[in-house]
Amino acid sequence: MKIALVGIGKIAVDQHVPVIAGSSDWDLAATVSRHGAVEGVEAFTDMGAMLEARSDIRVVSLCLPPVPRFDYAMQTLKAGRHVMLEKPPGATIAECHALEAAAREAGLSIYATWHSRHADMVAAAKVWLAEKVLRSLTVTWKEDVRRWHPGQAWIWEPGGLGVFDPGINALSIVTEILPDDIHVTHAELDVPENCQTPIGARIAFHHPKGAQVSAVFDWRQEGDQTWEIEAVTEAGTLKLSDGGAVMEVDGTRTGDAAPLGGEYPRLYDRMAQLVSKGGIDMDLRPMTLVTDALAIGRRHAVAAFFEGPQ
Ligand code: NAP
Repeated sequence: MKIALVGIGKIAVDQHVPVIAGSSDWDLAATVSRHGAVEGVEAFTDMGAMLEARSDIRVVSLCLPPVPRFDYAMQTLKAGRHVMLEKPPGATIAECHALEAAAREAGLSIYATWHSRHADMVAAAKVWLAEKVLRSLTVTWKEDVRRWHPGQAWIWEPGGLGVFDPGINALSIVTEILPDDIHVTHAELDVPENCQTPIGARIAFHHPKGAQVSAVFDWRQEGDQTWEIEAVTEAGTLKLSDGGAVMEVDGTRTGDAAPLGGEYPRLYDRMAQLVSKGGIDMDLRPMTLVTDALAIGRRHAVAAFFEGPQ
């Protein structure tokens, strides 16, 4: 299937372009980006122009930051094309519902991707937890914003999510592996005095069967980077690390993929399935947890953030 890629920035270049090139399902037929392009692929700077000129392209994958995504997605659906959305699927829950409704009405596929759910050991963790009685679950997601998000001003602007941009990946795993739905009861948000979004967050969740569920997200972590979820059950302890690439049960380790390894190929396989069957996959639970944390979180002003030396 011919596909167009929109927003040629960090994740498009790191993952989408090589994964599409390596897939037998997909043919990268056009890009839309105001500055970026992919060598050998027809490049547009305007979405409407691409949709009009390339009626042969039936699928569009949107790799923009969340705030501009809705307009691009709605324009794509109105032009009768299927849509694949980078995470988070939009800036607000309501706009995601509007996109899903528009896709349903038009008989098109729409896919809210959550790449971390496709990390190597997530499916195994889900199976292991399915029949266990959970006592506690702790998320520790600590990374260095300067290392992973260089030059990305949008993450500090309204709708940019701040530390929840990676944190939502952890929550996409948690909502996948836990058999029961959780919701936010308390949140503490560290917001740099010159930014609109948090650089750190501590969250407590309600679990319907009484387990203690909590998360710590921090973007100020230098040195070793931590992307871990630990679940203590009545029948042992499971730890997912490296963002879900490695699983440890009571000290026995499985999985040797690099972080992100295999995730994007599985997203594009899933999109191919959805398009061939006319399916919709819009699970908004990770986004609901983040927007709730932002809604009820207590804000603490912390030191201003500057990417480089002042
Ligand atoms: P990015 O490099 O900052 O942005 C991607 C591209 O989007 C930019 O190069 C820009 O291309 C376009 N863009 C930016 N602002 C725009 C606007 N206001 N209107 C229209 N186009 C705009 O960001 P990214 O890191 O690739 O992240 C994009 C999405 O992927 C985010 O939702 C993020 O959460 C997700 N993601 C990122 C990573 C990662 O490692 N970075 C990993 C997984 C998922 P032009 O200027 O050429 O138009």
